[in-house]
Amino acid sequence: RRSARLKNAHVGHLELVMGDITEQDVDVVVNAANSSLLGGGGVDGAIHRKGGPDILAACRALRAGHYGRGLKTGQAVATTAGRLAARWVVHTVGPVWSATHDRSELLADCYRNSLHVAAGLGAHTVAFPAISTGIYRWPVESAATVAVATIAETRKQTPDITSVRLVLFDKRAFDAYEVAAAGQ
Ligand code: ADP
Repeated sequence: RRSARLKNAHVGHLELVMGDITEQDVDVVVNAANSSLLGGGGVDGAIHRKGGPDILAACRALRAGHYGRGLKTGQAVATTAGRLAARWVVHTVGPVWSATHDRSELLADCYRNSLHVAAGLGAHTVAFPAISTGIYRWPVESAATVAVATIAETRKQTPDITSVRLVLFDKRAFDAYEVAAAGQ
C-alpha cells in the first residue's frame, strides 16, 4: 500500500509531508498554475479535478477582469478552493527551468507572494507543492533550497501564518526538501 511508504517530518518551523496536495486540510493550498489560469497538468490538473468547477469559474472571472493577460511568473492570486478541504487556492506561476539564466528570484517570488496573499486572506495554515519541479523541469535539489530559504525569510513578515507545509509527491522530492530544510 502506498500509505505505508508515506513520510512526514518537522524540520524547524517547516512541515514536510509526502503525499497529495489536494488532500491537505489547511486554509490555503498553493497551486503550481500556468499563466493562463485555465488549468493544466500536474498539481494544477489534480486541484481542478478534485476541487470541481467552481475553481475554474473563479479563474475565468479573474481572466475576464484584472488578469486579462493572465498571471505573470512569480505572481500569486487567490480563488475559492471549491470542494477541497482547504478554504482557498492560491495560484502562482513558477518559472520554467533555464540552464543559462538564473530564475531563482522568480521562484522565490512564488513563495513570497503566495504567503503574503495567504496572510492577507487571514489564513493560518498553508500547503505548497514543489513549484516548478514537474512540467517546468527545475532540478528538485535547487528548487528545494530556494523554497526553504524563501519561506523562512517571508515567515518573519507573516507571523499569523502558523504552519507552512511542503507537500512532496515522491520520496526523492521529500528527501531533497528534508536535506534543504536541515541545512537552513
Ligand atoms: P510545474 O509546472 O510548476 O513544474 P507540476 O504540477 O508539473 O508543476 O509539478 C510540480 C511538482 O508537483 C512535481 O514535483 C510533481 O511531481 C508534483 N505533483 C504532481 N501532482 C501532485 C499532487 N497531486 N500533489 C503534490 N504534488 C504533486
